[in-house]
Amino acid sequence: MDVQRFIFGGLETDPIIISTLSMFVTVLLCIKYWIDSYAVTNIPSKSLLPSYDFVIVGSGSAGNVLANRLSEINDWNILLLEAGGDGGDIYDIPVLAANLQLTSIDWQYKAESNDNYCRGLQDDRCNWPRGKVLGGSSVLNYMLYVRGNKRDYDA
Ligand SMILES: Cc1cc2nc3c(=O)[nH]c(=O)nc-3n(C[C@H](O)[C@H](O)[C@H](O)COP(=O)(O)OP(=O)(O)OC[C@H]3O[C@@H](n4cnc5c(N)ncnc54)[C@H](O)[C@@H]3O)c2cc1C
Repeated sequence: MDVQRFIFGGLETDPIIISTLSMFVTVLLCIKYWIDSYAVTNIPSKSLLPSYDFVIVGSGSAGNVLANRLSEINDWNILLLEAGGDGGDIYDIPVLAANLQLTSIDWQYKAESNDNYCRGLQDDRCNWPRGKVLGGSSVLNYMLYVRGNKRDYDA
């Protein structure tokens, strides 16, 4: 037997392939840990105001834009509430988008079973990812620039 090769799972395998694979798996595990360990900053209640001009529920794509635009009027006080955590830099890496589903920043909804779709999946139910984090679903989306088609809106 070639000294550079050894048996792995009954197959003769190159050590370079094995070390590359284990490095890849380690990196994936680190990324998974990093994704799941996002921070949540508690806002001390004493820093809250007794009243607000606007309360926005959900700091997703829409809520953030709304809060940003409303806050351009200096006299207005705006409270933006978010059920999820603060997020982190790793969520900005587009290629990781698929790995963010079913983590702590996903509400982890499932579609109801139906005779017409998701038939190949367990219990005929699809995952229905939605962001639960500052930034909402824009944090776990694929960052594709998709223009709305006016016929869709009309319909
Ligand atoms: C997996 C995936 C991939 C996508 N890919 C693309 C893409 O490539 N290109 C594209 O243009 N679009 C994409 N989209 C769609 C796009 O991301 C969403 O349409 C958009 O982000 C929706 O914005 P929104 O403000 O309506 O909701 P969201 O961004 O989902 O925001 C809702 C926010 O409200 C919070 N919230 C909900 N209930 C409460 C509560 N009771 N109290 C406090 N906070 C609450 C949620 O945690 C969330 O942060 C994708 C979506 C998903 C899920």
